[in-house]
Amino acid sequence: MRILVAEDDPSIGEALCVAFRGQGFAVDLAESGRDADAALQDQSFDLVILDLGLPALDGFQVLQRLRGRSRSVPVIILSANSTLDSRVKGLDLGADDFVCKPFNLAELRARVQALLRRAADSLDPPDPGPVHFDTRTRRLVCQGQAIALSARETAMIEVLWKQFGRPVRKDLLLDHSYDFAADASINAVEVCIHRLRRKLDATPITVRTVPGVGYVLEHRLH
Ligand code: CA
Repeated sequence: MRILVAEDDPSIGEALCVAFRGQGFAVDLAESGRDADAALQDQSFDLVILDLGLPALDGFQVLQRLRGRSRSVPVIILSANSTLDSRVKGLDLGADDFVCKPFNLAELRARVQALLRRAADSLDPPDPGPVHFDTRTRRLVCQGQAIALSARETAMIEVLWKQFGRPVRKDLLLDHSYDFAADASINAVEVCIHRLRRKLDATPITVRTVPGVGYVLEHRLH
């Protein structure tokens, strides 16, 4: 397992290298956004720990470029800038988790392990597997049987499926599932998700609530 640490503060960068090497990871340190971007283009990593305040390219730019190339590498943002805006922006750009500085090393380790487990479980949408969302016909099929979904449930599963394994914000689901004429609220999204979840009961996938963010479509935990 190989981790890229993108961090320009030498004391934090070194501490992370020591900590994760001590756990048996190979760790590369990039001290600028440009170095991180170059490393991510040239080499393959199992996880990225990304500071936002980096010289040359900032963490958001590094993340945006990375997600332009690959959706699958898990990214944890590590930042002293923990405003809601920057958290939401990070998640929108495809980060998987956000840890505030100053951070607790044991907590960061636990989050890294959780993300690596999740990545192993859901490298990509389970396609073709027992469950499949056909983006052409817009039908959700489980073991050959189409699951009957309303138009709104279909719109939601479409977004969630494209982001399989990644949280999707409630307001994005609202925008995607309801036209402007409909007087819909976040509450309508919650009701729709509740129905959708019940329809997924017999399948190996489920919609999990991500507190403060929205929902993630993922493999059911056994
Ligand atoms: Ca920094």
